[in-house]
Amino acid sequence: MSRETLYQIAVLVSLVAFLALRAYYRRKTGTLELNLSSSRDSARMRVLLLILGVLALGLLLWLINPSWMSWFALALPEWLRWSGFALVIAGLALLSWAHQTLSASFSGNLEIREQHKLVTNGPYRWIRHPIYAAIILWSAGLALITANWFIAFIPLAFALFFILRVPDEEKMMVEAFGDEYRDYMKRTGRFWTW
Ligand code: SAH
Repeated sequence: MSRETLYQIAVLVSLVAFLALRAYYRRKTGTLELNLSSSRDSARMRVLLLILGVLALGLLLWLINPSWMSWFALALPEWLRWSGFALVIAGLALLSWAHQTLSASFSGNLEIREQHKLVTNGPYRWIRHPIYAAIILWSAGLALITANWFIAFIPLAFALFFILRVPDEEKMMVEAFGDEYRDYMKRTGRFWTW
């Protein structure tokens, strides 16, 4: 089996694991159906989905045959490509932990759900947006494994989207939880512990 085939398998496993985890938690929280219009940032979400759609096509082409995307290939050393897989695993672990903790307060949209509870335990004890951090980690891992700069736009698109979304999300949380959320913000970091 060639090295490139091993990278393809690693990417396939990373993708399937991510989609399965998301589907499992979305189903559990009753948010399997995407209802964009109920999000406070639905216009931005539509743009993200469009961009991700184009980028996902590049990833799919790479998965079928990496040489089809060779125009964008980067000569990364093997150890760096495999450390991408470590990032994927770290991202997926953080994603499950955060979903498990956030439980029914999760939504793909920006909204306050019925009986919404402020969650400040698990990874939320240190960071306010572990799910977003996990998605950035996971997709950065994919970019490293594929060693392809077209695919590196996936983590960049996610990061830009989350950086734009977080101020709106935090404003919404302050409106809903007031000083409780303001205090929580003082003792936590956004995506990381700073
Ligand atoms: N930004 C968080 C949550 C993503 S899910 C993360 O990255 O982990 C998005 C929804 O989570 C938002 O609609 C918001 O209502 C809710 N939310 C965000 N932080 C929360 C918290 N600390 N407690 C409860 N709900 C939260």
